[in-house]
Amino acid sequence: MTAPITQDVLTLPRKLPETDKTNIVGLTRDALREALVAAGTPERQAKMRLGQLWQWVYHWGVRDFAAMTNLAKDYRALLADHFTIDLPEVVTRQISADGTRKYLVRIAGGHEVEVVYIPETDRGTLCISSQVGCTLTCSFCHTGTQKLVRNLTAGEIVGQVMLARDDLGEWPVQGAPKDETRLISNIVLMGMGEPLYNFENVRDAMKVVMDNEGIALGRRRITLSTSGVVPEIARTATEIGCLLAVSFHATTDEVRDQLVPINKRWNIATLLEALKAYPGLSNSERITFEYVMLDGVNDTKEDAYRLVELLKGIPAKVNLIPFNEWPGAPYKRSSGNRIHAFADIIYNAGYASPIRTPRGEDIMAACGQLKSATERARKSKAQIAAEAGL
Ligand code: SAH
Ligand code: SF4
Repeated sequence: MTAPITQDVLTLPRKLPETDKTNIVGLTRDALREALVAAGTPERQAKMRLGQLWQWVYHWGVRDFAAMTNLAKDYRALLADHFTIDLPEVVTRQISADGTRKYLVRIAGGHEVEVVYIPETDRGTLCISSQVGCTLTCSFCHTGTQKLVRNLTAGEIVGQVMLARDDLGEWPVQGAPKDETRLISNIVLMGMGEPLYNFENVRDAMKVVMDNEGIALGRRRITLSTSGVVPEIARTATEIGCLLAVSFHATTDEVRDQLVPINKRWNIATLLEALKAYPGLSNSERITFEYVMLDGVNDTKEDAYRLVELLKGIPAKVNLIPFNEWPGAPYKRSSGNRIHAFADIIYNAGYASPIRTPRGEDIMAACGQLKSATERARKSKAQIAAEAGL
């Protein structure tokens, strides 16, 4: 592994300011409107004030009420008395040799989560977290070795997008010609945590991010990845409308039980039924099946043929993820030949089967490598292996 190009330790205050003011970030339009009225905004002005404030915060990225020049001075003061515009604090930022950026972010209570920005030639993807740690214990995932500490609030989820925009200098400049190219063109909920176990906060956060008067990211530019929380899958389409990815990873219940233990609760057949019934499923909105390639575990040609059978009737694409190793991991990455042979079988059966290029490996920013260093409750190597049934 090569050394990361830079690592800045930002000298920001260690603690979020204690305040009984309401943080605007992450409130849905309805909730913010209500809060404005409760703070003394006259009912008949509420809609207009909400629109103005929303634009300042989410279109222009302004954090200081005093700079909101189309609001009367005393109204700005009223806002400052009742509200804050707070983001989680960036503790460290690492930049990989390949341009990938990893932010370690501190939230209230001193917990930490990671956020990763992956620049590509035709897009820039921000990978955000939904929980501190994860309650699930997928045996190949570094986050799964960390105990869940808590769900993130909607504000902490939206805040990840905003702090990355800050770092990338992506807020529009007033008076400058409109720039349609976006550094953050896509968002994936593929960081730490299981987003469908924090559904309401993830939904509210994505509504804020998608809102046309603000950050305005299209719903098809957001992908939510789940390990297979079957009862919540349909709501992803009806209440958020974003794209869905499923961590499939195995073609028999026996193997999937070991890799993705939630399979013991909702097995492959039950999961596939839920996916077939996914509202709005079409060829233009296919489900992504994520499949991590683990040497000698799930990577044979038979597995590939079985996967093709299982996919029948579902508009799908298969994203093959070469396993990213982490200290103590009980698996090895499949060989390049194996991965390509697997991809060919899927492709020849009519499904796109891209192989995901690992990014940011030198800074441990690749899929499944995230885990905050401050969370000390580590499982032992033996425990991980035992849970994996090895
Ligand atoms: N909890 C959600 C989203 C976060 S994980 C989920 O499980 O889908 C995002 C993706 O990275 C999942 O497909 C996950 O299975 C995969 N992943 C986890 N650990 C990995 C590793 N070490 N190497 C490669 N992919 C990994
Ligand atoms: Fe949790 Fe996803 Fe990791 Fe499984 S793969 S432990 S669900 S974050």
